[in-house]
Amino acid sequence: HWTRVKGRLRSSVGEDVFSSWFARMDLEAVQDESVHLSVPTRFLKSWIQAHYAERVLDAWRAEMPKVSRVDLTVRSAMRNVAPAKEVTAPVEARRIESTGNRPAADIRSTATAPVSASHEALGGSPLDPRLTFASFVLGRANTLAHAAARQVAEGRRGDPVMFNPLYIHAGVGLGKTHLLQAVTWAGNSNPERKVLYLTAEKFMYGFVAALKTQTALAFKEALRGIDVLVIDDLQFLQGKTTQAEFCHTLNALIDAGRQVVIAADRPPSDLESLDERMRSRLAGGLVVEMSTLGEELRLGILKSRVAAARAHHATFDVPEPVLDYLARTITHNGRDLEGAINRLLAHSKLNATAVTLEMAEREVRDLIRPMEPKRIKIEDIQRVVARQYNVSRSDLLSSRRTANVVRPRQVAMYLAKTLTLRSLPEIGRRFGGRDHTTVLHAVRKIEALVGKDNTLQDEVESLKRQLAE
Ligand code: ADP
Ligand code: MG
Repeated sequence: HWTRVKGRLRSSVGEDVFSSWFARMDLEAVQDESVHLSVPTRFLKSWIQAHYAERVLDAWRAEMPKVSRVDLTVRSAMRNVAPAKEVTAPVEARRIESTGNRPAADIRSTATAPVSASHEALGGSPLDPRLTFASFVLGRANTLAHAAARQVAEGRRGDPVMFNPLYIHAGVGLGKTHLLQAVTWAGNSNPERKVLYLTAEKFMYGFVAALKTQTALAFKEALRGIDVLVIDDLQFLQGKTTQAEFCHTLNALIDAGRQVVIAADRPPSDLESLDERMRSRLAGGLVVEMSTLGEELRLGILKSRVAAARAHHATFDVPEPVLDYLARTITHNGRDLEGAINRLLAHSKLNATAVTLEMAEREVRDLIRPMEPKRIKIEDIQRVVARQYNVSRSDLLSSRRTANVVRPRQVAMYLAKTLTLRSLPEIGRRFGGRDHTTVLHAVRKIEALVGKDNTLQDEVESLKRQLAE
């Protein structure tokens, strides 16, 4: 049961949250209607009680419907080394109390944390001195985000705030943290201004620590006393209480004309765990997406990394063809670009050899991934197909049945089915409200033809290439 309960929890809260909070949770005992779990620290215990009591209980109930209570204790350091076993011992623990069907979370833990906890939290998250505007390479993917971030960083106390919050979103390794820390460094160079950079996790931690020491009020006041609040990885903000608190802080800051800058891996509308009002407040400022790093930008980042490395290792150099090779083959993710340069540096230092193309091919092989399946949009397919066959996009969506439109339309539907995860009915809707059987017919038709008709096969291949770019 325990393994399955953990599986349920993992899928209900997501991998990141699970590994942050539940990875070290052990089963101690199951007895009649109650389950006894343990965690290694008081902090984990109060956090789980405050934020996940209901989910934990739900996960158990889904496996064992008669469970009505989940107790959570802090296990001693000794116990931490022993593997958890299913034992049935009398349980003596603080309870995640269940009142009727709705278990109530107990936020006020009895734990006494050092008073410094809330101050520490307000110190902000650590900043990396390399992540500044000076080292941020510009490209098509990030011009707008960069311009907005600069604007925010250069504002003075009392300046009218132009967009609030500034919300930047992008996938992993595309420069969100870099840009946010650059804002913080630049903003803090002005002694009149207080810029605070916090990861969403640090925010949560700070708030919980403040609750524990009953300094929550001071925590809130301190947060509201800053000029620019920078929050990274907002998607990790979890739990109703902290979300509500974050929401208050955000509103208070914005209403007081202070700047808020946020980064997340998805747009506000996709932050499922936040409530609707919060999402619309986040979307109410400026929302900017940074897209995947194009080849030129990748090359720029590689060069800037090499230059930074050369500051300490004067003999290190990466020849142009190697840079080109890396920029072409390492996909999108800025972290891998950095990793590649680090590896070449290490290798050439350790072996006292110059960097060559062969060395690069060998050393970074694992960073070269087959093109990540890019999320292809139906509109892109329609646009590319229309261009290739020299018809208009509205022709594709229309009810016209002339041969020069029918075939491209079928090809487009076929590509929509094979390159996206959209269902047949959805594709039908997106093609001028057609029935799913029409889509199915088109898909089958093209599938059958592609095997026999070389011209069509070439056309389809070419379309796929264009879409993968
Ligand atoms: P994210 O926070 O979006 O996951 P990071 O900001 O941590 O990404 O970036 C990952 C790595 O790529 C970092 O080493 C960062 O410096 C580098 N990087 C990303 N974009 C740029 C850029 N435009 N210019 C310079 N370095 C970049
Ligand atoms: Mg980041």
